[in-house]
Amino acid sequence: MKKVLLIGAYFLCSTFAISQTVEDMVNAIEKEGIENSQLEQLAYELMDLNGPRLVGTPEMKSAHDWAVNTYKKWGISAENQQWGTWKGWQRGITHVDMVSPRVASLHATQLAWNPSTSSKGVTASLITLPSFTDSLSFVKWLPNVKGKIVMVSMLQPTGRPDENWEEYATKASFEKMKSERDSLEKIWRQNINNTGYTSRNINAAFEKAGAVGIAQSRWSEGFGANKIFSAGTEKIPAVDISLEDYGMLYRMVEHGADTKIKIVAESKDLGVVPTFNTIATIPGTEFPDEYVILSAHFDSWDGGTGATDNGTGTITMLEAARILKKVYPNPKRTILVGHWGSEEQGLNGSSSFVEDHPEIVAGVQALFNQDNGTGRVVRLSGQGFLHAYDYLGRWLEAVPETYKNEIETTFPGSPGRGGSDYASFVAAGAPAFSLSSLSWDYWNYTWHTNLDTYDKIVFDDVRNNAILTAILTYMACEDPEKTSREKAVLGINPRSGKKGEWPTPRTPQRKGGQD
Ligand SMILES: [Zn+2]
Repeated sequence: MKKVLLIGAYFLCSTFAISQTVEDMVNAIEKEGIENSQLEQLAYELMDLNGPRLVGTPEMKSAHDWAVNTYKKWGISAENQQWGTWKGWQRGITHVDMVSPRVASLHATQLAWNPSTSSKGVTASLITLPSFTDSLSFVKWLPNVKGKIVMVSMLQPTGRPDENWEEYATKASFEKMKSERDSLEKIWRQNINNTGYTSRNINAAFEKAGAVGIAQSRWSEGFGANKIFSAGTEKIPAVDISLEDYGMLYRMVEHGADTKIKIVAESKDLGVVPTFNTIATIPGTEFPDEYVILSAHFDSWDGGTGATDNGTGTITMLEAARILKKVYPNPKRTILVGHWGSEEQGLNGSSSFVEDHPEIVAGVQALFNQDNGTGRVVRLSGQGFLHAYDYLGRWLEAVPETYKNEIETTFPGSPGRGGSDYASFVAAGAPAFSLSSLSWDYWNYTWHTNLDTYDKIVFDDVRNNAILTAILTYMACEDPEKTSREKAVLGINPRSGKKGEWPTPRTPQRKGGQD
């Protein structure tokens, strides 16, 4: 009887001691994250000072070096690990002007990896696409592009986003605009289809036929927002022009005005350059071969400065690591931070890491990835791991209400097949999760657009996420159990009608842009 009581008392004491420690640690994480937040400084250095991080650019490399030095300042060891090579390129001055029938400077940007014009640039008339009945009529018309700059995007009937129409238009006029736009889009798609090309490879056909430039406008359905990707040309300039300026030029051409623009788009071809992931580690004291991974892709497109894609995920993980190093410097498991390269071209950095480090993948206790904007984390899925509910639930219990009260969980969920770098680990069977954010109009306004800049960052939300990530990481490091990797039986895929299968690891592209 006495013995049982003693054991009971001991057990009570030890449970009490653990929970007391957890509470102290959570308080310390919160205090450090709020009172000594480095997020604004990190965002300034990464977005404003360093700039966008397109794979293969010197700015991508300088960002990797900045990350290593930042960790060094905090006493965290970090290194850049090469996983491949990429076409080296650097953006220069882009200046696009209308020079006839009057002069106006245009809002335009050269597309990524586009070769340079001379410093004098290219001055030429614009041409729009007529309607084609079939590929033969396209081939017959094609010589008309010789010496011209081809306008390859549809004229948008409105530059106002739908929310704006919804607020101010009459119902009838909003409906009318939408149906007109739908039919214009349908006609446009059919017309491109009739040429025998796609919108992806048609620019190459124009170039081959002697066009001297490509003008596009990829509107992102928000005021002032265009998506800026890569050029599909070998030698001639390809620029994206704002909806407002593109529409003006298009209407001028259609009305028969002698419309000329001048494109100066300078850039540097830097040959082939190495490409990296930045990996930081805080070694584990009890289970050094088990890993809690903080994950966020480091690269971006370069129309803006990659602030919400994925500057915010990046500074969340940097800040969480900084907080942990300060208040929890001796984690039981190893904390590893992965700042992946070339996510935007198909998760290349993270899938290379998975391929190159099977021993680390085998030791993953949990991975937390963040990559959909600046908002508070509101969704967490078990990614198809049958027992994710147990451990994620246990870890979330330690998180104060204010950081988790909006999080909707889905268990077991289904395994991610892409979208961001956690999918590289899920495919390899490692418990990897996505800390999914509130939108803040991510898809229209900041994702891959010219407006993805520092001013869109909502620092209080990012602070929330850094603290949440640090607490989950601490809990995952301390958990007495290694997490289960047992997979849930996947349901029938409604599209294929077949039983769902676990995704297979993708083969990374390790030699980018070098055909
Ligand atoms: Zn992203």
